[in-house]
Amino acid sequence: MNNSPNPEPNQVVETAEERKQRFLLEFDQPFKCDKCNERFKKKKYLREHKAEVHSY
Ligand SMILES: [Zn+2]
Repeated sequence: MNNSPNPEPNQVVETAEERKQRFLLEFDQPFKCDKCNERFKKKKYLREHKAEVHSY
């Protein structure tokens, strides 16, 4: 009989604060480069980034 207070000790749980941060980031910068995962506020910035960095 083992009454541990933590049911899954090695399960990675995202805290409410981390979840909020991630939500805000995705909300604020919804355009993500599919090549390097960088995020941008505007589609225009993403297009400029692609033309500049991934122009091959
Ligand atoms: Zn990129």
